[in-house]
Amino acid sequence: MNLLSATLSRVKPSPTIAVSTKAAEMKAAGQDVIGLGAGEPDFDTPDNIKAAAIQAIHDGKNKYTAPDGIPELKQAICAKFNRENGLDYVPAQVSVGTGGKQILYNALMATLNPGDEAVIPAPYWVSYPDMVLLAGGEPVIAEASIETGYKLTPDQLDAAITPKTKWFIFNSPSNPTGAGYSRDELKALTDVLLRHPHVWVMTDDMYEHLAYGDFEFCTPAQVEPQLYDRTLTCNGVSKAYAMTGWRIGYAAGPEKLIAAMRKIQSQSTSNPCSVSQWAAVEALNGTQDFLASNNEVFKRRRDMVVQMLNDARGIVCPTPDGAFYVYPSIADLIGKTTAKGAVIENDEAFATALLEETGVAVVFGAAFGLSPNFRVSYATSDEALKEACTRIQKFCASLS
Ligand code: PLP
Repeated sequence: MNLLSATLSRVKPSPTIAVSTKAAEMKAAGQDVIGLGAGEPDFDTPDNIKAAAIQAIHDGKNKYTAPDGIPELKQAICAKFNRENGLDYVPAQVSVGTGGKQILYNALMATLNPGDEAVIPAPYWVSYPDMVLLAGGEPVIAEASIETGYKLTPDQLDAAITPKTKWFIFNSPSNPTGAGYSRDELKALTDVLLRHPHVWVMTDDMYEHLAYGDFEFCTPAQVEPQLYDRTLTCNGVSKAYAMTGWRIGYAAGPEKLIAAMRKIQSQSTSNPCSVSQWAAVEALNGTQDFLASNNEVFKRRRDMVVQMLNDARGIVCPTPDGAFYVYPSIADLIGKTTAKGAVIENDEAFATALLEETGVAVVFGAAFGLSPNFRVSYATSDEALKEACTRIQKFCASLS
C-alpha cells in the first residue's frame, strides 16, 4: 500500500527553502557563500516588541488562547485596518494564525472544492499554487510580463476567469518582483472583478509597509468598497516588524469565512503562540517609527542592487516599488557557456552555475512561474550585496 496521499503527489517542496538549505550546507562545508535567497529582513525585532513578549511570559500568558486569536490582538488588528487602510472590521471578522502562510492555507482549505479554480498572477509567491493544490483546487496561472512591470493587466485577469473561478489571489508589493500596483492599476483590476460576482479576492498585503519613494500602498477592498463582502484582506507582522520567527499572520473578511477558517484551525494547530500574540499587539499598537528608518536602508540597497545588476552584461533589472526583492531577466544569457563549461540552458542552470562557480545563492525564476529570471533578496548587508553583485557582474562577463 502506498503510504503517501494522492494529494501530496500534487505538490512540490518550497524551492526557496531548498536554495537556502543548499547555501547553508555549502557554508557549513567552509565555502565562501553569499545567500541572496532569504525572504526575511536581516534586522532584529524591535526592542519594544521583545519587551512585550517578555512581559507576557512574566504575566503567565502561557495557556491556550481562543483558536483564532486573543481579543486584544483582534482589537489591535481592527484598529490597524481602520487607521491604515480605511477598512472597518469587527473582531468577529478577524482571524489570527501561525504566520501569514497558515491564514492563506486555512482560507483555501475552507473554501475550495475539487475543480474550483484560483487565478494566480505570475510571477507568484512560490506557495500559492501548491497551497491551492493541497486544498484540492486548481491553480490558473495568469502570466504578467516584464513590459508591464510584472503586473497583470485587466484583460489578462478577465481572460483567466472562468465559471469555476473561486479566488483571485493578489499580492502587492509582490514577492518575487517587488512590483506594486498603483491605485489606478488596482482599480482597473477591481473593475474587472465587479463584472464577475462569483469571484472572491484573497489579497496578500504582507509587504504593505515595505514600499519606497512615491509608491502609495492600497488594498482591493479600500479601492473598491463593493468588493468588501467578498474580499479576504490578509497581512501579518513577519516582514514589516522583522518577526518571521514569531509566526503571526492575520486576515479580516466576511464572518462566515472567518468562522470556517476558525473551524479548520481549531482542528489542526489550535491557537498561534500566546506569547507571540502579545508581541504582535505591541507591534501593531506601539511605535511605528522604525518602519521609516528600515525602509531608508532597504531603498538604498534596492537602488545599489538595481544599478549593479543593470551594469552586468546580459541582465535587465526593473526598479521595483517595494518588498525586498528584485527580479532581473537573463533572456540575453540563455545558451551561453560558463568558464567551467556549464551551459546556461535556462534560469535554473544559471542559478546553479552562479552558486557553484561564484558562491552567490539566488532563486531561479521558474520557481516563481516566470522565466528566464532570478530573484535577489536584498535583505542583507550592503557589503554582502556589493560583493555578490560584483561576483554576478564578473560571472556574466565571463560567459561565452
Ligand atoms: N505572503 C508572501 C507574499 C510572502 O512572501 C510570505 C513569506 O515569505 C508570506 C506570505 C508568509 O509569511 P509568514 O512568514 O507570516 O507565514
